[in-house]
Amino acid sequence: MENLIRGLLLEIGENVEREGLAKTPVRVKEMYQFLTKGYREDPKALINEAIYEQKYDEMILVKDIQIFSLCEHHLMPFFGKAHVAYLPNGKIIGLSKVARLVDMFARRLQVQERLTVEIAQIIQENLEPKGVAVVIEAQHLCMQMRGVEKQGSTVITSEMSGRFRADPRTREEFMSLIR
Ligand SMILES: [Zn+2]
Repeated sequence: MENLIRGLLLEIGENVEREGLAKTPVRVKEMYQFLTKGYREDPKALINEAIYEQKYDEMILVKDIQIFSLCEHHLMPFFGKAHVAYLPNGKIIGLSKVARLVDMFARRLQVQERLTVEIAQIIQENLEPKGVAVVIEAQHLCMQMRGVEKQGSTVITSEMSGRFRADPRTREEFMSLIR
């Protein structure tokens, strides 16, 4: 990867010998390894060791989970907040694990839509709740720095299943809690 970064610097017209760039290839390599570590982590394993039986019928919501991800079209950051809710059906998961799950999928090359769906799906498949809702609000640097869209604009995506989809009151409760 270091050779590729050096090649990239050459292609954009830089002098790779100058002092400020000497360690850039190794730094960028380490950065990408960190920002894509989700490929080397297994969300299913994480969720399985964190599930426990609990009788609790109300909505569980983890809101304002910070996300940092990379858009797969430009390799530029998009970042913001994720809100994850579910209606348990006998099984619940440790709250901190929800945030770690979000991180595992965010630390991959993503589009915001797929990130939203993947988080909802892993919870749906493993907890089998009465419903899942995931909303992500994010800013995309590939839009903002390249000036295609208004600066500061936010992209909102959502994925809902079960009661969140079927029952407007449940959906409304969720939406008012994250507002
Ligand atoms: Zn992009």
